[in-house]
Amino acid sequence: MTDMSLTPPPSRKRRSNWQLLMANRLAAAGLFIFGLIVLIAVLAPLLPLPDPNITDQPNRLLPPLSERHLLGTDHLGRDIVSRLIWGTQISLIVGVSATALAALFGSLIGLVAGYARGATDSILMRFVDMLMAFPYILLAIAIVAALGPGLLNALYAISIVNIPFFARNIRGVTVSIRNREFVDAARLSGKSHAAILFTEVLPNVLPVIVITMSTTVGWMILETAGLSFLGLGAQPPTADLGSMLGQARAQLFTAPHASIIPGVMIFVLVMSINLLGDGIRDVLDPRLRSGALDRPMPVTRIDRRTTPPAKLTDAPALVVDGLSTGFDTGDSITPAVRDISFRLGKGECLGLIGESGSGKSVTALSLMGLVASPPGVITDGAVYIGGEDVLSLREQQLIGLRGARVAYVFQDPLTTLHPLFPVAEQIAEAVLAHNRVGKRAAMARAIALMNTVGIRDAESRAKAYPHELSGGQRQRIGIAMALANDPDIIIADEPTTALDVTVQARILELLQDLRRERGLALLLITHDFGVVAQVCDRVAVMKNGEIVEQGDTGTVLRAPQHDYTKRLIACVPELGEGHGFLDRVRPLFEEART
Ligand code: ADP
Ligand code: MG
Repeated sequence: MTDMSLTPPPSRKRRSNWQLLMANRLAAAGLFIFGLIVLIAVLAPLLPLPDPNITDQPNRLLPPLSERHLLGTDHLGRDIVSRLIWGTQISLIVGVSATALAALFGSLIGLVAGYARGATDSILMRFVDMLMAFPYILLAIAIVAALGPGLLNALYAISIVNIPFFARNIRGVTVSIRNREFVDAARLSGKSHAAILFTEVLPNVLPVIVITMSTTVGWMILETAGLSFLGLGAQPPTADLGSMLGQARAQLFTAPHASIIPGVMIFVLVMSINLLGDGIRDVLDPRLRSGALDRPMPVTRIDRRTTPPAKLTDAPALVVDGLSTGFDTGDSITPAVRDISFRLGKGECLGLIGESGSGKSVTALSLMGLVASPPGVITDGAVYIGGEDVLSLREQQLIGLRGARVAYVFQDPLTTLHPLFPVAEQIAEAVLAHNRVGKRAAMARAIALMNTVGIRDAESRAKAYPHELSGGQRQRIGIAMALANDPDIIIADEPTTALDVTVQARILELLQDLRRERGLALLLITHDFGVVAQVCDRVAVMKNGEIVEQGDTGTVLRAPQHDYTKRLIACVPELGEGHGFLDRVRPLFEEART
């Protein structure tokens, strides 16, 4: 059942950003249309176009497809094709320049405010808040009114009103980056603040700047068009898309084409930029790539290659057979654990041991379909609880099993307990999840459970919040919650890793006692052979997502078959061992270094 081969996971070539962008059809279409528009606008001087500003009164308001005027003429007899292309060029230049200016100043404000904090931060951000306090199109109109109408002033106005978007976004990211260790390291190395800001912080903020630019440039083109439409931007005879629309407004009913054509152009241009911008954002944000920001499904996606038998006869409490789980990266599934098989009887303890990243947690979470999906997918295998394959169950049935027959204890109870509720209430809630009892009865049971897990003075500690307890007590609460519904199986994922050694020993004792008293099947996940030796009847050793060796703890400890197991065993120092220990671990480090 156990695959002993150690083939590395089939590595896929990562697709480049460009390929990812092209895989997004809408973004690719946006890029194509936008590229075409830019190309035509750039080539305007070379195209055989009539002068966009030459008026020709006798031929005013010609309809589209007229002779020599493909899209007709406007109210002064000017060729609409020519004005459209030149106008698009102006709209593009103004929109892109405004974006660049807003990005430059906005990002600078955000970087400095986020990095300096304190008074500088307050002053800069209050200035930004002031800008944000006005509806920005009104603010833009007010700025142009003060500076005087004209394209350049419209550009400044649009830039200024968009500064807050950049400043706020960039400040937020900078604040979270400035306290990271690599920034501290740079500070300790004696780099100046400016150097840190531009060589350490800026590169990490750059994707956010690009995303903000790509999602606002379309908007800014629209705002420029709006100002021109109102006569505050491009001044006659120069045309941009907004002023063309504005001037043709008077003939909306007699010659609708004169306003519809620039209107459609604005729509197509802004639409293509926004589609492209969304695509760029998705590509640059790794979380969006795997779909992790989608709402997770209540049960891991199950997409098994083979259909295992739905029932086993004479099965022990838990049988895992050929379980494989992977993560969907958008175009294929990267396996995380492969062909995991083990059995666990009533009252037994199986240790699942392996280094960090070997797939222990993914295995544990797969058993109850708890791996977050997307991106998690169970690709093969079966999990039999009481002889029944739980992965074949309907969603509601599987959810019903969680906590009732199989319960989890996690590594750090401070992160799994709710910080704002007293601990007893949280245990009571676990009771209520599967039992139709009153709130009072649930509370009484919670306090009884707190006694069971060895919390002294349970009555008075019941009202304590998680932060008021010690690490060991918190883990006891975690175990109490796991016991709330008398489960058959407890899966404990590194339950003692966050605790110091003496507390660790007591928590392990507690798990041992509970196992004996209640006949619990215990799957104990750890990276420490010392823990396995102390608690487990049998042990399964994981490496690179596979079980490489399993057997009775004593046998494995005495005669480990696999090199990796030997090394894990060698990592447990013995009391007062001194030199011997160093001699044994030194080769490991040397090996790791090569
Ligand atoms: P550990 O043995 O330390 O508990 P895990 O089971 O958490 O290791 O992780 C096993 C592997 O699965 C790791 O290589 C990890 O990178 C990968 N993995 C875990 N969660 C995710 C995820 N959400 N997306 C992609 N890969 C993941
Ligand atoms: Mg883990």
